[in-house]
Amino acid sequence: MSEAKIIDGKAFAEKLRGRVSDQVRALRDDHGIQPGLAVVLVGEDAASQIYVRSKEKLTEDVGMKSFSHRLPTDTSQKQLLTLVEGLNKDAKVHGILVQLPLPDQIDTQAVLATINPDKDVDGFHVINAGRLATGNPGLVPCTPLGCMMLIHDVLGKDLSGLKALVIGRSNIVGKPMAQLLLAQNCTVTIAHSRTKDIAAECREADILVAAVGRAEMVKGDWVKPGATVIDVGMNRLPAEDGGKSRLCGDVDYAEVRQVAGAVTPVPGGVGPMTIACLLQNTVTAACAQNGIDPPEV
Ligand code: NAP
Repeated sequence: MSEAKIIDGKAFAEKLRGRVSDQVRALRDDHGIQPGLAVVLVGEDAASQIYVRSKEKLTEDVGMKSFSHRLPTDTSQKQLLTLVEGLNKDAKVHGILVQLPLPDQIDTQAVLATINPDKDVDGFHVINAGRLATGNPGLVPCTPLGCMMLIHDVLGKDLSGLKALVIGRSNIVGKPMAQLLLAQNCTVTIAHSRTKDIAAECREADILVAAVGRAEMVKGDWVKPGATVIDVGMNRLPAEDGGKSRLCGDVDYAEVRQVAGAVTPVPGGVGPMTIACLLQNTVTAACAQNGIDPPEV
């Protein structure tokens, strides 16, 4: 059997950012609106700082306004909620992102619940989760949204009747991913840490999405020949020879490439799509807040 097609998320995300940039220009020229994204970072978490800097840079690259809020690690919940309430009221801010994880003294759910759902560009507010679950999506979580775009790019628009398996049931990836596949008329199974024979479940799937956080868990003989495999995992493996650590996914890429029809690499697959979808969601939010038809996503 020939090797799988490599799904180039980096190139797809670059094209998507180009489209977002065109949409931003049109909003400015036709309506005098510059979409604005506020990013809030509490504390010094090294990985979060890298993500936030990258989000802010790409926001500006597509012509949107980036509002940056850095708060110290000992910020109280009240201080953070006051900031979010201020951003909710600020008409220049169309999207609000509070970078997770938050320090222990802060109740993450309370913060997410305080963000105006219309500005919730991460799509984590219960209103947006509920809208997705009831088939009337508002702002959709960025990582699953990006995965869906890649799946459609490989398999086309019509996914009706395909069997899809999502490994992982988190609120930010697994559950919304399953909802999106269901909305596309796939027959969806969700696997998790208590699933009995996960390899057998995987072998049934035409579309396999792994969002687990376990390095190279999905082996070649778990995959149905020709399946589309989307690897959301981002795991850091220590170097064997004392050199640099290595980033890898939840899928054993070398093995799965020999069996799948198409597979995302890590890095360069789902990761770049997440930020591109965040920018797309900010345009969608800016349109909705100004009574303008949002671009088709
Ligand atoms: P999470 O909240 O930790 O959820 C992990 C899920 O995997 C849980 O539902 C858990 O099951 C399940 N699981 C754990 N061990 C398992 C096993 N041995 N067999 C089957 N299922 C198992 O993680 P997450 O936030 O969804 O993220 C998942 C991965 O995606 C992580 O590597 C994360 O870094 C990555 N990620 C990447 C992006 C991106 O932009 N590329 C964005 C978000 C997340 P239970 O519910 O039963 O515990």
